[in-house]
Amino acid sequence: MCGNSCRGRNDVGLLAEVDGERVSHFRLREFESREGLAMVHATVLAALERVRRDLGAMAGEEVWIIVTDGVRTQADLERLAARLGWVDEGGAVARRSKHLAEFGGIAVDLVAVVASTGRRVPQETAGAVCRRYFDWVKDDYRDGHVHADNRARAG
Ligand SMILES: [Zn+2]
Repeated sequence: MCGNSCRGRNDVGLLAEVDGERVSHFRLREFESREGLAMVHATVLAALERVRRDLGAMAGEEVWIIVTDGVRTQADLERLAARLGWVDEGGAVARRSKHLAEFGGIAVDLVAVVASTGRRVPQETAGAVCRRYFDWVKDDYRDGHVHADNRARAG
């Protein structure tokens, strides 16, 4: 998708402060839309770091949070809806998706995996931990991802 010309694009480490400690486990490119637009709200980064920490503590080993979708443009949204359908037509895509850039990078879709084995952390476990740090979480998608956003905190 991204050739030599854009190698390095958004390949920037993001620093968050979690309970007085500076941590950096995410890169800006992980939040990129298909077209290379990237943004992430500060409260989302801090929440992701906390979710990563808590899931790791529960597993007793390193857990990776894989961001499967961050910010979306209107064009990204239309493409997705063409595939999955709009919510009000029985599909899975909200017309006023919190992933839209206008909301400021407040939404992420993610899965969590145990680093050593690649085994997926169960969706409901990841969802429960996300609820500690995000305003709104949905964890009943068929493909096993969790949606989390900070619609109140960021407002
Ligand atoms: Zn989502």
